[in-house]
Amino acid sequence: MAALVVDIVDLSRQTGSIKDVHVEVPAPADLGTEVIGVPQGSPVVVDAELTSVDDGVLVRGRADLSVHGQCVRCLRDIDEERTVSFDELYLMPEAARAQVDQGDEEADDLFLMGDTTLDLEPALRDALVLTLPFRPLCTPQCAGLCPQCGERLEDLPVDHAHESLDPRWSALEGLLAQDEPRQS
Ligand SMILES: [Zn+2]
Ligand SMILES: [Zn+2]
Repeated sequence: MAALVVDIVDLSRQTGSIKDVHVEVPAPADLGTEVIGVPQGSPVVVDAELTSVDDGVLVRGRADLSVHGQCVRCLRDIDEERTVSFDELYLMPEAARAQVDQGDEEADDLFLMGDTTLDLEPALRDALVLTLPFRPLCTPQCAGLCPQCGERLEDLPVDHAHESLDPRWSALEGLLAQDEPRQS
């Protein structure tokens, strides 16, 4: 059974019935994007209110979790605590089928509730991914790395520079060396 599956046996199908759930689990794999996400196994704490509605269950929740990634400019580790809110309607399978039959093109993306369980993970995943940056940065002003030595520019003095790397200067140095008067 997946970590974020909650029991809804005791949630009455009567509209307006409410069940509060509190779940603390190690993060499942792939909670995030390619570049930033929740480290697998790190703690995820979810509080959600499940409300029975006509066609299914309305889930309003928030999750406290940590995300880990790497700055795309300077490769520094990024570790942040996040709170993610989600608000999703989980449909009863028959209600979802009815929508598919009606030609609703988004019906494939619907969240479905089970007979006795409901999996919070897809709702959390969708909400989290929306909050994650495509290009994570350690700070918005991150200056990145020195293109010559690969050191982090923020760690270097402001006047950090490399000498003799400009090819024009190296050529000039070569000429000067040749012009030196020979001792005979
Ligand atoms: Zn950075
Ligand atoms: Zn440098």
